Amino acid sequence: MVSIRTNLERLQEKIALACRKSGRKESEITLVAVTKGVEPSRILEAIDYGVKEIGENRIQEAESKFSLLPQEVRRHLVGHLQTNKVKRALKLFDMIQSLDSLKLALGINHRSGEKKVPLLVEVNTSGEATKTGIRPEETLDFLRKMAELENLKVLGLMTVGPLTSDLTAIRKSFRTLRNLFEQAGRLNVSNCKMEYLSMGMSSDFEIALQEGSNMIRIGTAIFGPRN
Ligand SMILES: *Cc1c(COP(=O)(O)O)cnc(C)c1O
Repeated sequence: MVSIRTNLERLQEKIALACRKSGRKESEITLVAVTKGVEPSRILEAIDYGVKEIGENRIQEAESKFSLLPQEVRRHLVGHLQTNKVKRALKLFDMIQSLDSLKLALGINHRSGEKKVPLLVEVNTSGEATKTGIRPEETLDFLRKMAELENLKVLGLMTVGPLTSDLTAIRKSFRTLRNLFEQAGRLNVSNCKMEYLSMGMSSDFEIALQEGSNMIRIGTAIFGPRN
């Protein structure tokens, strides 16, 4: 049985080291513990050891677990969201990191009402056909379209790196997102403010931190392998 506490300590050391190597401050990095497939009792354990933000991929799983967690934990949706589940997602999550189509943006804008939900635009930086996300070359235009959807609050960009051991390809993917993040920051779209650059998972967060990520999403390195 893996010790969540030990895993978190090791992870913090690695984050600290990666930050030191690239002249970053640890305090600017937000850790999102990805809890898909993890039982509430183990999520609570991670929270006891200092986890403040969690990420889930599926609405139904989040619905069954979130009522068992303390109110103050910040909840991120990191998996693809179907338009017909927007209403449920808005009830559950503090941030939706997987805004990946205009249709979904329209759906969220229509449903969000008074509560503006923070969103990240997911970009498919690897070009892998199995991944969702806006194409890099269409991302800035997509953000310009968000200006008309006044119930949205876009706070940054998110990507999932390519599934490969080719470190150059992973770095290239993260660099693409970083460049878009900087260009988007200069766009001046009223409801888009580039605060969060969400990239890096258990196998590639050190590269992501070197490439400027300020939000990493970590599952396996905290909770062990999923079944
Ligand atoms: C599962 C998942 C993660 C965490 O992956 P690990 O490799 O277990 O750290 C991060 N982001 C997204 C979008 C995920 O689906």
